[in-house]
Amino acid sequence: MKGSIPEYKGVWTLGEQRGKEISSVSYELLAWGRGLADKLKTELSSVLVGHKISEENIQSLIHRGADKVYVVDHPLLEHFTPDGYGKVLKKLIEEYKPSIMIASATTIGRTVMPVLAAMIETGLTADCTGLDIEEGTGLLLQTRPAIGGNVMATIKTPEHRPQMATVRPKSKRPLPADNSRKGEVIKKEYPEDIYSSKVKFLEFVKDKTAEAPIQEADVVIAGGKGLKDGKNFKMLYKIAKLLDGAVGASRQAVDMGWIPYSHQVGLSGKTVSPRLYVAMGISGAVQHLAGMSSAETVVAINSDPDANIFKVSDFGIVGDLFDIAPVLISKLKEIKNQRK
Ligand SMILES: Cc1cc2nc3c(=O)[nH]c(=O)nc-3n(C[C@H](O)[C@H](O)[C@H](O)COP(=O)(O)OP(=O)(O)OC[C@H]3O[C@@H](n4cnc5c(N)ncnc54)[C@H](O)[C@@H]3O)c2cc1C
Repeated sequence: MKGSIPEYKGVWTLGEQRGKEISSVSYELLAWGRGLADKLKTELSSVLVGHKISEENIQSLIHRGADKVYVVDHPLLEHFTPDGYGKVLKKLIEEYKPSIMIASATTIGRTVMPVLAAMIETGLTADCTGLDIEEGTGLLLQTRPAIGGNVMATIKTPEHRPQMATVRPKSKRPLPADNSRKGEVIKKEYPEDIYSSKVKFLEFVKDKTAEAPIQEADVVIAGGKGLKDGKNFKMLYKIAKLLDGAVGASRQAVDMGWIPYSHQVGLSGKTVSPRLYVAMGISGAVQHLAGMSSAETVVAINSDPDANIFKVSDFGIVGDLFDIAPVLISKLKEIKNQRK
């Protein structure tokens, strides 16, 4: 860290552009950042590093809450590299000295933030589910599950700046776009050696197992060990299809090899915040709840009336899922046919 703590001011978020689009996590981060900046009565800025960054993309960050946007655009930055992006962010931080810097816990955020924290010699709390400002000190409170999800730990960075954290995607809804918002855009250029990387981009290979859009889905039908066999996930796919939803799973179901990891909901899986979450044959371990407790409505189907999942459910059905699922499927089909 260069300089003294009082020199560091303002809240920064790391924007992400994938292809030509701004990724929605950039707006989620701005929602987090806006709350923090308002509490501190300070400015909120977003940083966008990449190539062919459009004015529309820059303005969209302002419409979603940024007061300022720092842009670094160069052909060498077209593809993400931890050292190339890290050096750019280091330069910006050393010049403008933000007090708080947050990124999303995406592949980019999880990769570049530790590199950056090491470069500028500050701390980093990874994978937070909550951020706040401590009254009196104005320090960033970085909250994340710890010790296997059994406790929520709140971490502070009192002696270094910036205070850095990554936040789980989907842990906050973006603010609605306000197209009348105005902000400042600062475009920076650096010598090419700042952009260069030891990593050579060869090609982008999409992870096919990651084709489980559970984080975007409004409805998630999740299955656990109570399904007893991988082939029984077929029932869940049928229900999900009828409700335009996606299929999620507990870690047990994933560990049994019944469904790919990309479907896992929970502490070591994905965080989801759908309008409807249906948990079938899932006991409701704390590590699972960590990934779905922000769902609007939770429905649990479990044969054990004492299952923990019922404690977080809005509606619970005590019974055998193998009896209930077929009834659910035929009822949903009936309703769908009536609506045609
Ligand atoms: C560090 C760490 C990280 C973890 N991360 C995650 C994570 O990300 N996600 C996650 O899910 N877990 C995670 N876990 C594991 C977690 O602790 C639990 O082991 C797991 O969630 C249990 O999965 P389950 O509910 O499918 O299985 P079980 O706990 O075995 O529950 C199965 C449930 O099915 C019910 N059932 C059985 N038969 C039927 C039937 N015929 N009809 C209806 N109900 C039936 C049972 O009553 C039971 O409640 C993690 C653990 C650790 C230590």
